[in-house]
Amino acid sequence: MASLITIHPAVDRGLKPKAENFAGGTLLCHCTDNRVAVTIKGQCAHNHVCGCTKCWKPKGALFSQVAVVPRENLSVIRNGEKLEVVDAKAVIQRYGCKQCGVHMYGRIENKAHPFYGFDFIHTELSKEEGWAPPEFAAFVSSIIESGANPNNMNAVRGRLKELGLEPYDCLSPALMDAIATHMAKAAGVQIH
Ligand SMILES: [Zn+2]
Ligand SMILES: [Zn+2]
Repeated sequence: MASLITIHPAVDRGLKPKAENFAGGTLLCHCTDNRVAVTIKGQCAHNHVCGCTKCWKPKGALFSQVAVVPRENLSVIRNGEKLEVVDAKAVIQRYGCKQCGVHMYGRIENKAHPFYGFDFIHTELSKEEGWAPPEFAAFVSSIIESGANPNNMNAVRGRLKELGLEPYDCLSPALMDAIATHMAKAAGVQIH
């Protein structure tokens, strides 16, 4: 039964449409008081569900939901002293709340990285409605690394397709092409 598979609370009952001219919102961590607050100006891009082992997932979710915003559109406005980098060796520096564990944003400091200039956020941390919904599912096979049963993968991929989230075992073709184009240009390859 595909419907028994829970992907992520933000998509399990179907995707919510984005609002036109969405102004943005405030991401809040899960603490009961002194919550970390991060404001985002404007709409997110490339929202997707991600099966990797690094992205923060709500309790019980098989996937995270993660999108990008230009880093200049993100500001930590309250209780930023509760944030710490979860894994300093990771390409994406994920800033998590020391108290509740929620990741508030991820930032790339390597200027040569294809996604430099964008921060990664989890839009479900904001109560504002109108964020662009996820467009695809990334790193689907990686959920097995977090303990998902390999025998259920057909059902998981079936449910993702039913939700309109095409499953990929890396990023989407559009993003993989963007990365490869960046790498080719950086290497001085002439693109025909
Ligand atoms: Zn917290
Ligand atoms: Zn991920």
